Amino acid sequence: MTDPRRRLPAVDALLAEPGVAPLLAEHPRALVVKAVREAVDQARAHGGTVPVEGWDAAVRAAVARLTVPSLAPVINATGVVLHTNLGRAPLAPAAIAALTRVAAGYSALEYDLGRGARGSRHAHCRDLLVELTGAADALVVNNAAGAVLLALSALARGGDAIVSRGELVEIGGSFRIPDIMARSGAQLVEVGTTNRTHRKDYESALGDGTRVLLKVHRSNFEVRGFTTDVPVAELAELAHARGVACLYDLGSGLLLDLGKWGLSGEPTVREAVASGADVVAFSGDKLLGGPQAGILVGTTEAIAACRADPLARTVRADKLTLAALEATLALYRDPDVARREIPVLRMLTEDLEGVKRRAEALKKGMGDAELVEGESEVGGGSFPGAKLKTWLVAVWHPETGNLVAKLRANDPPIIARIADGRVVLDPRTIFPDQIDTVRAALTADG
Ligand SMILES: *Cc1c(COP(=O)(O)O)cnc(C)c1O
Repeated sequence: MTDPRRRLPAVDALLAEPGVAPLLAEHPRALVVKAVREAVDQARAHGGTVPVEGWDAAVRAAVARLTVPSLAPVINATGVVLHTNLGRAPLAPAAIAALTRVAAGYSALEYDLGRGARGSRHAHCRDLLVELTGAADALVVNNAAGAVLLALSALARGGDAIVSRGELVEIGGSFRIPDIMARSGAQLVEVGTTNRTHRKDYESALGDGTRVLLKVHRSNFEVRGFTTDVPVAELAELAHARGVACLYDLGSGLLLDLGKWGLSGEPTVREAVASGADVVAFSGDKLLGGPQAGILVGTTEAIAACRADPLARTVRADKLTLAALEATLALYRDPDVARREIPVLRMLTEDLEGVKRRAEALKKGMGDAELVEGESEVGGGSFPGAKLKTWLVAVWHPETGNLVAKLRANDPPIIARIADGRVVLDPRTIFPDQIDTVRAALTADG
């Protein structure tokens, strides 16, 4: 008996098939060859049988799969505003325009147009950050984890950095503050306990080797009950009395007070700077609502040390990031404009009536759906525990898993979730111009 797998067609033979050959006119040969190989491999994996849909269709499907970019835009129907798996902050139109303008050609990235000589990429967002945060100087790098690594390297390498055991946080993707600190060359000295750390704990750990007192904002969890920690202002004062620096890993980078919209408990960057920390580190793509970036603001001396550290080069920000960040920051000069134009702020502060109107538009014409009250999440390790009232569209379906998978397979993919045996979609994170697309996907047959 011959193994049926030996009867699989050769790649060249398939390429010459009348249903396959025309693909070579539309796509690079390497891509079509790869698609043919995939189709043959799949047939082999299925016991060497001819694909049920036929060879032509199998190859065409493989070509289609290979030509779709893997980093595709999706519609976020989860209601989690800062969804790290979905790319965190959508950008403001001004930020998109700025990065597009810079992307197409050359730019004055490290060129001083006034002097006609070499300039610094660090100059671009610096003045805006100084203006918006009250700090003396600023430095933008690739992301906040990199910013913390750089600041620790610059301020504490070869010495001790003292941190409370209640602030040894994991920030997602298994990134742990203690691990980052170890890589910076600073020795981590833990003080206090998980729930309580006092000023005297820092005082007794302070020694000749101490270089930094580190404060880490508990951005993604809350501790309640029998707890104490030392406010950053007090920690900064203690650090300065002992001749060491105070570094504050703030996490989110809130530039506007959102207390009026029921979001409180997250310090603004300006407050963090005013507390006296030498350096404050935060993200560009969390509450700030800009591109992925890590931002350091602080004293002239401390920021200069960060800029001069060899690690600064390894975490430097890209020109597209700098362009988008500069444009996003400029919007903050008028808080109303920032709230209107920056999608993260707009979604977080949208009134319930607006969300409900979109929920109703989404539900229109759907028999087996209803509006239910629910909660959106800020996400992205910001405002832990904060809940935003919302209106969800809840859809009954005999196979909720199938409906969620169908939505995910839509073009563009729609990410929804299942709750209480129903598929739920939160219009807070669905943009107005996406409502029709989502409704069409929900009501499509199949
Ligand atoms: C999110 C976060 C970081 C890391 O920020 P990235 O921009 O993801 O690198 C660091 N520290 C804290 C406290 C955070 O919340």
